[in-house]
Amino acid sequence: MALPRFSRCIICNKPFRLSKGASAKQRVCSAPECRQEAHRRACARWRKKHPTYDRETRLAKRLVRKTTLADWLREPMAAIDWAQARDDVGLATAVLVEEWAKVFLVWARETVRLQIAEAKRLSHEVPFPRAREKVSAKLE
Ligand SMILES: [Zn+2]
Repeated sequence: MALPRFSRCIICNKPFRLSKGASAKQRVCSAPECRQEAHRRACARWRKKHPTYDRETRLAKRLVRKTTLADWLREPMAAIDWAQARDDVGLATAVLVEEWAKVFLVWARETVRLQIAEAKRLSHEVPFPRAREKVSAKLE
């Protein structure tokens, strides 16, 4: 039979029995005040480690427009409120990001278009007619 394990609460400093199955990491007793204080300290540590999280989240919420998947696929640039971006990050940064996004979109579309064209070209080199049909059907 295992002996009961004890620890000392880091909040109230009273000894307490570790709950069954609890890891040795349990540092806080079961008193609601101690649990609440431990939670408050954990949140404070998290906020100190991620000081800009709330600002980032609010900014992202302002900049990203709600859109349908179909609209987003048709016009991905419309997913961002660029006028709001200029207000929030400044004209130069917003224009740089917007122009880079346009360049990247053209590159991505052209790369995919070229890959499909190359795959279609190669499919004509497939020696067996049935396999050629299968490859062509997948590319449609
Ligand atoms: Zn305690």
